[in-house]
Amino acid sequence: MYYQTLLTLEKKYDKKIIEKYDSWLYNIPSRISDRISIAKATNELDIEFSMAKSILEDSVSLDILERRYAIKCPECNHVIKIVSIEDLYNEINDINNCDACEFENLEITDEDIQILYKKKKIESDIIDSNNIKKNLSYTDTDSLRGFFEDKILNPNDIFYRPTEEQKNDMIKLFEKIGQKENNTTALGNQLRDFTEYVLRIVKVFESANVRTETNEIDCLVKNKLRIGIPYFLNELGSLIIVECKNEKSSPGNTYYHKIQGILNIFKSKSGIIVAIKDPTKPALKVANANYLMNGTIIVAINYEELRNVVYENLNFLDLLENKIIMLKTNATTYLGDNKVFEKK
Ligand SMILES: [Zn+2]
Repeated sequence: MYYQTLLTLEKKYDKKIIEKYDSWLYNIPSRISDRISIAKATNELDIEFSMAKSILEDSVSLDILERRYAIKCPECNHVIKIVSIEDLYNEINDINNCDACEFENLEITDEDIQILYKKKKIESDIIDSNNIKKNLSYTDTDSLRGFFEDKILNPNDIFYRPTEEQKNDMIKLFEKIGQKENNTTALGNQLRDFTEYVLRIVKVFESANVRTETNEIDCLVKNKLRIGIPYFLNELGSLIIVECKNEKSSPGNTYYHKIQGILNIFKSKSGIIVAIKDPTKPALKVANANYLMNGTIIVAINYEELRNVVYENLNFLDLLENKIIMLKTNATTYLGDNKVFEKK
């Protein structure tokens, strides 16, 4: 075996298949080692597509392969560019025309992105067989949409990926919250500055900030990547109202009625309250009633949750998505599978 870590897969697949895969993978020349497709593996190993997909995905878990994203022309299927997950969203927005068929103003969706694999240079010594997924029921598709549907990939991980620099900036802004400044306005601005910064990291949020005299932050959310699967950001509509509440008091039902009023003025159907403390129970009842009556989504994020975003790598979009599920189900405890909340 060239890749010793592949031995961990011999319990899950036929030994002969793994041996064949091992030698095929090793001998792939470097000039094409960044474009290994599931279809290619299916042919080479003479196995089912879903099994090839599963083996390649397990190889990602074992750190032998990493995923690459081939952006294809929606008109002629020509591969325009192969990129990493970090560059995916920006490239989709930047690509306008196809150099093969010369079509212009292309609208690239998650169906036009094919998942490929790239060989990693260094093989990891650490074998963690716990990473191997047990589920074998993958669909027969290698599009990004299919990977979302199979829950192999989560859109939140594509749209919220702070860089190291952004993480450091977040820490700086977060630590300013609550610090004494010369005047009270500055104190109020700290939470807002931090919130604005986090919202700007979310790639689908274009923060067109319309400041009014009453301190609202208005973010125009344009979802440029057409997501075919049901995705929570689509439910929030094109305009999300974000309001920061810096005071130490909990947002109560009067505050929620005020936010609902702002949503009505802006014809928005969703609002995010960023506050130091959790909302009161009557306020949460108001939010749930508004949701049931007219589908308005108002959720609140507190200081402790923001701390987890800053220091525990909690994905801000996972947090937001779970808050929305909590609102819909009238749940009072956090439903996310993120372990950071279970420590307490
Ligand atoms: Zn084309």
